[in-house]
Amino acid sequence: MKNNENFNEFIAYAIKILQPYDGICPTGCCACEQHESIILIPGEEIFHCYSKEAVNSFRTDKNGIIYQEGADGFCPFYQDQDGHCANYNSRPIDCRMFPLFPIFEVEERGFRIARAGVYCPIHDDIKDSFLRDVTEICSLLNMLMDNNWKSRYNELNKIHTSDIGAQFVTSLIGTKESLYTS
Ligand code: SF4
Ligand code: SF4
Repeated sequence: MKNNENFNEFIAYAIKILQPYDGICPTGCCACEQHESIILIPGEEIFHCYSKEAVNSFRTDKNGIIYQEGADGFCPFYQDQDGHCANYNSRPIDCRMFPLFPIFEVEERGFRIARAGVYCPIHDDIKDSFLRDVTEICSLLNMLMDNNWKSRYNELNKIHTSDIGAQFVTSLIGTKESLYTS
């Protein structure tokens, strides 16, 4: 793992780049809350000042990676009554990229970008600029994160690629080859 300063710098940068896309989801949509897993960037819980109670609601693996599996139920920040995120302004980077997400080619040190399945109402209405910016963030993630984190990420997103029809979005970025290598 790289030092915390690098991660904090990355988190701040990713928030800045992805902030213009706040609000791309239709009001009240929370369809992904039933499918989505979440993984934190190292130190993200401190960066966002998540409460100890919230952090304890997530799992922490032996490598210190904090995450939640879709099967664990709803995210601790999900507000059941109205389907809103109680922590929207401090939500994890992982949430900010959705319905796009990376699939890491761990051995090859590359990644592809995929999008959520048809359950997401905007899955086929992804703006080029959003895809470009998410791709940039994933490229930085690919350089910063170690293999344990990337493997955990892939594992958590397996449901998207196997069960609910996620698709690679190669055509949207206008290239034949979707594998980016660092
Ligand atoms: S942090 Fe918010 S946006 Fe992310 S999964 Fe939880 S409720 Fe949803
Ligand atoms: S990412 Fe898709 S499913 Fe999730 S809240 Fe946004 S529109 Fe709904």
